[in-house]
Amino acid sequence: MQRVYNFSAGPSALPEEVLKKAQSEMLCYGTSGMSVMEMSHRSKDFMSILDSAESSLRELMQVPDNYKVLFLQGGASSQFAMVPLNLMNKSKKADYVNTGAWSKKAIKEAKRYGTVNVIASSEDKTFSYIPELDPATFDKDADYFHITTNNTIYGTRFAELPDTGNVPLVGDMSSDILSKHYDVSKFGLIYAGAQKNLGPAGVTVVIIREDLAGNAMDFTPTMFNYKEHIENGSMYNTPPTFGIYLIGLVLNWLKEQGGVAAIEKTNIDKANTLYNFLDESSLFKSTVAGKDRSVMNIPFVTGNEEIDAKFIKEATAAGFVQLKGHRSVGGMRASIYNAISLEGVQKLVDFMKQFEVANK
Ligand SMILES: *Cc1c(COP(=O)(O)O)cnc(C)c1O
Repeated sequence: MQRVYNFSAGPSALPEEVLKKAQSEMLCYGTSGMSVMEMSHRSKDFMSILDSAESSLRELMQVPDNYKVLFLQGGASSQFAMVPLNLMNKSKKADYVNTGAWSKKAIKEAKRYGTVNVIASSEDKTFSYIPELDPATFDKDADYFHITTNNTIYGTRFAELPDTGNVPLVGDMSSDILSKHYDVSKFGLIYAGAQKNLGPAGVTVVIIREDLAGNAMDFTPTMFNYKEHIENGSMYNTPPTFGIYLIGLVLNWLKEQGGVAAIEKTNIDKANTLYNFLDESSLFKSTVAGKDRSVMNIPFVTGNEEIDAKFIKEATAAGFVQLKGHRSVGGMRASIYNAISLEGVQKLVDFMKQFEVANK
């Protein structure tokens, strides 16, 4: 059996060492005599898996003590509702920046619960850039300010975080959490679906400043109330146990790689390898310019749909898979999350060079 170079946008490649470790513990975790999937979430073994995943995340992201870490279900998409239900509790207003399909969904959901002020958008050019933000347009009264830190579909990211003053910044970090250093204290709340950079689908990580929980709207379902999950240590109901276990393994792997600073450096090398080639190529082009370019998701096109299709077909046959771009952008997209090695990106670029020569 041959493993492929998997450039999927999500669920995405996991480190092979993690999969092997999970395989070795599949039938019997430690001395428990059972798989992690088969154990009570209240058992000592599972409690220590949960505690260690949380402490690894705190260590890697340098999460300050006044922030809580939650492992929830429902995906990042549930957070689109959970954030306003819990945080839109004073002025009932929030500022949003519209940088893509995920921001749009977040905005649509928040509008059910209060006044959404879309202070900037890049929809005019298929979200191919990050709009300039003018702090004079920020609402000082807003209950929070929401951004999507990395736009998975369009391949853009905020090179700098907006300074929102006393208004809590909320970040959908689904596709770039742990890819680079973020100062958690700059955020009121961070959320991320696990299936891009953290582990398998089915777990959503939430990092919330303590004081922001506890004022949810009256009709908030219990399962959507951060306070309930905080008070119960992510165990209000059965948490996604196997997913949390895998996240723990991914975080241990990341520590072995040298932590966030080391992976950030590798991620920049990987992205530069691909962007440098795209900028020189006479066949392939990046769809995003300058400082807004994502380090995680890199869309590219040839400008000819037939050649795009031929490229995807031949790349797949050569073991470079899930390179088809999102239908709203077309062409190709290489998602190069933490688990993708520099060597994998170099091999892809070598293949693209050969394809370019053969198809000039
Ligand atoms: C994938 C993704 C989502 C959706 O995540 P689900 O877990 O499927 O709900 C939301 N935001 C961003 C930035 C994403 O990349």
